[in-house]
Amino acid sequence: MALKTILTAPDPRLKKKSLPVAAVTDEVRQLLDDMLETMYAAPGIGLAAPQVGELKRVIVLDIDREDTKTGPLFMVNPEIVEASDEDATYEEGCLSVPEHYSDVARPARVTVRYLDRDGVQRDLACEGLLATCVQHEIDHLDGVLFIDHISSLKRNMILRKLLKARKEAERDDADGKPAKVKEVVPA
Ligand SMILES: [Zn+2]
Repeated sequence: MALKTILTAPDPRLKKKSLPVAAVTDEVRQLLDDMLETMYAAPGIGLAAPQVGELKRVIVLDIDREDTKTGPLFMVNPEIVEASDEDATYEEGCLSVPEHYSDVARPARVTVRYLDRDGVQRDLACEGLLATCVQHEIDHLDGVLFIDHISSLKRNMILRKLLKARKEAERDDADGKPAKVKEVVPA
């Protein structure tokens, strides 16, 4: 297993539509395992393949809260086949939108159809945080982030802050390199 780098907004790859997977091969299983390890390390409760730069319809989840414990879930080609009229609002965050959170309303209950790690088709009825998380991850496969569900004013503010933070990190990197070299050169 290997840790993958998680892309952060605004990265153009996060806005692309992912392609369905033809079959759950060993290569796909490797991707699922790497994604789960990357998600646990982050740490997060869900991760979609485009977040690690793979435009494939693959997601992993593991929710471990007092009221919901799912264990690891691997979903290939997931799709929502049923959704409640009733909405639920959760404060969402995203590993690709670090340190920003916002309330998002989505259907409170959904049924998701997917292929599991062995390529077996399954239907799973989801509610609560799991329903929100599944919809959040499937959104990623269509190039949609949770900030696309909030006002453009708030979205643009978050994107500006993320860009600024990235530029500062890059500048620190550039500044840091000569200093590091100096340190390791024995005087
Ligand atoms: Zn996300």
